[in-house]
Amino acid sequence: MALIVQKYGGTSVGDPDRIGNVARRALAAQKAGHQVVVVVSAMSGETNRLLKLVNARTERPNEREQDVVVATGEQVTIGLTAIAIGAQGGQARSFMGHQCRIVTDSTFSKARIKHIDSGGILEALADGQIAVIAGFQGVDEQGNITTLGRGGSDTTAVAIAAALKADACEIYTDVDGVYTTDPNVCPAARKLDRVSYEEMLELASLGAKVLQIRSVEIAMKYQVPLWVKSSFTDDPGTLVCQEDKAMEDILVSGVALDRNEAKVSIRDVPDAPGMAAKIFGALDERAISVDLIVQNPAVKGKTDLTFTVARADLLKTQDVVKGVVKTIKAGAIEVDDDVAKVSIVGVGMRTHSGVAARMFQTLSGEGINILAISTSEIRVSCLIPTRYAELAVRALHSAFGLDAKVAPARASTGSKARKTSKA
Ligand code: ADP
Ligand code: ASP
Ligand code: MG
Repeated sequence: MALIVQKYGGTSVGDPDRIGNVARRALAAQKAGHQVVVVVSAMSGETNRLLKLVNARTERPNEREQDVVVATGEQVTIGLTAIAIGAQGGQARSFMGHQCRIVTDSTFSKARIKHIDSGGILEALADGQIAVIAGFQGVDEQGNITTLGRGGSDTTAVAIAAALKADACEIYTDVDGVYTTDPNVCPAARKLDRVSYEEMLELASLGAKVLQIRSVEIAMKYQVPLWVKSSFTDDPGTLVCQEDKAMEDILVSGVALDRNEAKVSIRDVPDAPGMAAKIFGALDERAISVDLIVQNPAVKGKTDLTFTVARADLLKTQDVVKGVVKTIKAGAIEVDDDVAKVSIVGVGMRTHSGVAARMFQTLSGEGINILAISTSEIRVSCLIPTRYAELAVRALHSAFGLDAKVAPARASTGSKARKTSKA
């Protein structure tokens, strides 16, 4: 008997029929002799709807109260899923984050899980029940409701799988695995049978929202066997696992696109020690992560500093930067959210040279201007104007030999061909 954690995303619980489908799949796994824990997201579109309600009154809501509102989406789906399992003759018990005690820190809207008291879940499983757990939410030590950041249900599922030492964590979504790039952007995308934790970590941090980055970090740390599958087909999906020799032969395994960043430039920063420390220290104090950073050579004792942050953090960033600019006597602050970050990822880059050059040539061949660059051992990222985002993805996908020979047969959700925003 295996213990399996199954996570179903927004599209997979998007209406009563689909919730029925989730119940059927969970019960089938139980009938096959397994103990089953189900983690669900809010219905697709629901978290966006709740955030809109929050932002209708103010651009800078109280973050504790915002979490109280946006966590409600998952309360609805756990109840409906448990009811659907019951209606199909099974037994299920639903758990909110605070009920199965997913304990987090108090960073509202992007809290990190500290520990999980798995006693209640284990009791339900021992009683022959399917435990249905709300994704995306937790509780801090003071009893406040917290949320784990957009896409956080993936992290709930992997953290529970790690805590329970589950035999597998299956992430069910609206595509049938991890592709070489977003199949909704590039029709030539190819499904990967396997991808290393490290490559998946880079792809996730670079905008491939098929898995939330934190979920991959936890899977890698605790060696959780992680599958990405479709809830609409029986395709075996993609296994996210430890790197092996064969993976290194492939130069680039994937192309990622992130449209959720914004560029901030500070003009006339005094060319003196400690300036960057002051700016980025102040951002860090407000839990704002900075991504690409470019500093121009100083002219007449002044330099320009450019960096990117998540678009959701832009207002907070502007508030913080305004304060620092005053104290360090820097110049104007310029903001541009019409940018996208396109990245290539592959463990093969460790042992092959010339990859970055080929990326720059490909972008230049399409007439795309690069605004900023950053690299790691297994990744190269370029910031470009948003209007070129999809063109860049397709050109790079083709230049690095990733295009499928025939268009992939993708999981049909029966709805969108292409999405822009979801739960
Ligand atoms: P869920 O609601 O099930 O959590 P998400 O919308 O968060 O689903 O993630 C699935 C989406 O991730 C897909 O519909 C696809 O558009 C997108 N995606 C981006 N990059 C990739 C990739 N490399 N492979 C597969 N899907 C990707
Ligand atoms: N419902 C949350 C969101 O839309 C969590 C998730 O879907 O994983 O971000
Ligand atoms: Mg998701």
